[in-house]
Amino acid sequence: GNSVKEMNSSSLIKDLIPEDEQSPVPGLDDPVRMTQNATTAHILTAKWTIAEGWAAPEIKRYGNIELPPTASVLHYATSCFEGMKAYRGFDNKLRLFRPWLNCARMRDSNERVSLPDFDPEELLKLISTFVATEGPRWLPDTGSTFYVRPAMVGSGSALGINRPGEALFFVFAALFPQSRPGTINPGIRLITSQPSQIRAWPGGFGNTKVGANYGPAMTAQVRARQNECSQTLWLFGDSNIVTEAGASNFFVIWRRSDNKALELVTCSDETGVILNGITRRSVLEIARERLGSQDVAKQVSGDLDALDVIERPFSIDEVVKAHQEERLIEAFVSGTAMFISPVSQIIHEDKFIDFPTTENEAGQKVTVSKYAKTIKLWLEDIIYGREEHPWAFVV
Ligand code: PMP
Repeated sequence: GNSVKEMNSSSLIKDLIPEDEQSPVPGLDDPVRMTQNATTAHILTAKWTIAEGWAAPEIKRYGNIELPPTASVLHYATSCFEGMKAYRGFDNKLRLFRPWLNCARMRDSNERVSLPDFDPEELLKLISTFVATEGPRWLPDTGSTFYVRPAMVGSGSALGINRPGEALFFVFAALFPQSRPGTINPGIRLITSQPSQIRAWPGGFGNTKVGANYGPAMTAQVRARQNECSQTLWLFGDSNIVTEAGASNFFVIWRRSDNKALELVTCSDETGVILNGITRRSVLEIARERLGSQDVAKQVSGDLDALDVIERPFSIDEVVKAHQEERLIEAFVSGTAMFISPVSQIIHEDKFIDFPTTENEAGQKVTVSKYAKTIKLWLEDIIYGREEHPWAFVV
């Protein structure tokens, strides 16, 4: 059983609901999207047992799943998940963004909570088949997206503390609020975490997408909302290392204290206290390639100065100091759901760290986001097929 690694995608049994029996596709501004709970019409499921390995997956009507009250996941958090979006491109094709990395990360998450292994290429075939099933109806126009959620849970009876002997894998698609290509968020506010709450620690599991990371972070999320902030900026350790923001990674651009160079800085993965986001990696790679030297930066961006791209642990005190010395240029978060969103303000203890603002064409005060906007546009060109690039996977 342990050695069975194939999720066989070739024999998907399809029990599809006729189009006219499916609920209408909500428009871009439909409030149902704000709840993030509305899904498309179908779900893909695959069962695993230690004795038989993976059974044939099925695509069927979306609905509740059944679990025994003694199920492993209900008591011991044997659960993990992934998050990625499917995009309808400028050329009308459906794309996923670097899904190979999601599949590899899901294997790592599974391993952390003793869920069964699988062949990542088989997983990609399942996700791709599911997106191809739902895309034609649920992604009607260029720029439409839905959020694809693959998940795995320990589904068998297991009150004794043992690795799950049964698992359920499933994929569904949720209809999230849409960020339109070419637009940029005017700026989100973050509040730093309290010393009594630690999201992740070396040797823990914060660097994987296991469910156990998210439940205990919800009180901090409530506190952030009470302070009119959209996310918690998680600090770690005695020196208050800035790790990540909610379910996004965090980047700051500042002028170095010797005033010589501009730096794009984010917490390093080696710390073990961040989730190494796929958007994060892409921002780092594209910034190194296109903004890493003055010649190239001028050529590709017109008016942007080059950045030194740096992954290292940095403290909130460094951000406070850069603010006092007026060296802050921009900050932004990166992730599948928030994509690239500029940060307008960080609340830390009783201090406000404000990022530079400017006036937009309509005369409103908005956060400066020259770099965030440029990087977002570059990634959108790839995601929506304006630029052919190896990061895009055509479904
Ligand atoms: N950090 C955490 C804790 C997350 O849950 C996510 C979302 N997967 C991210 C960062 C961003 O990762 P990605 O860019 O792969 O969506």
